[in-house]
Amino acid sequence: MANFKIRKAVDPHVIMLDVVGSERISPNVVRVTLGGEGLDRFTPIGFDQWFRLFLPRPGQDTLKLPTRTSGLWYAQYLATAKQKRPFVRNYTVRAYRAEPRELDVDFVIHLEPDGTCGPAATFALEAKPGDQVGLLDQGIGYNPRHEHDWTLLVADETGLPAVAGICESLPAETKGVAIVELPSIEDRQEFRVPAGVEINWVPRNGQGGVPGGLALARLRETQLLGGSVYAYLVGESALVTGGRRHLVEELKVPKTNVDFIGYWRHGRAAM
Ligand SMILES: Cc1cc2nc3c(=O)[nH]c(=O)nc-3n(C[C@H](O)[C@H](O)[C@H](O)COP(=O)(O)OP(=O)(O)OC[C@H]3O[C@@H](n4cnc5c(N)ncnc54)[C@H](O)[C@@H]3O)c2cc1C
Repeated sequence: MANFKIRKAVDPHVIMLDVVGSERISPNVVRVTLGGEGLDRFTPIGFDQWFRLFLPRPGQDTLKLPTRTSGLWYAQYLATAKQKRPFVRNYTVRAYRAEPRELDVDFVIHLEPDGTCGPAATFALEAKPGDQVGLLDQGIGYNPRHEHDWTLLVADETGLPAVAGICESLPAETKGVAIVELPSIEDRQEFRVPAGVEINWVPRNGQGGVPGGLALARLRETQLLGGSVYAYLVGESALVTGGRRHLVEELKVPKTNVDFIGYWRHGRAAM
């Protein structure tokens, strides 16, 4: 479920990368750094650049990666026997460095009540140098297509890399408000934010409920700034659909000024 018009990746390829390192950067986030020659074929374009991440299944020594880069990669993937298919998940470029060529990915570690987690979170927890992954660039979701006076960003913790990348890429004179829900306030991050953009961290601090619920409540309490807005919402599906409904139906923001991507759905694995 999504309403957005992607800014396409530049000449995307399915590339193989190696884990260079990993670090628990905050209570609920593991940063995995990827490197390798495959990055020679990756073009960083800032904002919330995201990608398909192909991960080996348990017992797989080699990754069987699709070769098609258009939407056809998925047909190719489905044509591969299930036990040979890698896991596929979606992630955001948290940082890219040219020297040495490296790409950071921040994985939210979400544990089920029984202590298990999905394949991507498990990969991040166990990642060690030399582990291999596949990556297919998907471009940028943040894509205002109309003149606007200010920017509204709303996210749960999975959208923090997107909010950081967008803030780091926006012009210095940008005005705006960002609402970012986090598992705990210790998960907040420092990044370059235009002086006119206010970041509101909304920590759950152990309060129950599905992630995204507090960000949605904060959005409902938020007074919109004057002038026209471009709103971009990412995170759990109820947050982004509820947020869009609030903006469009109650506050009468034109539909075309609101883009959203459901990053994940509570109770349902990605693929
Ligand atoms: C464009 C895009 C960019 C994204 N960027 C990032 C990113 O940079 N960092 C990031 O951490 N995530 C990001 N996500 C979200 C990520 O793809 C999902 O959270 C994904 O489901 C995690 O895969 P998994 O294998 O760990 O869990 P799955 O196997 O997909 O799910 C297993 C169970 O965990 C639940 N679950 C999944 N994610 C969460 C969560 N965050 N909190 C609580 N429960 C969860 C599911 O509902 C399911 O019950 C992005 C998603 C999209 C679409």
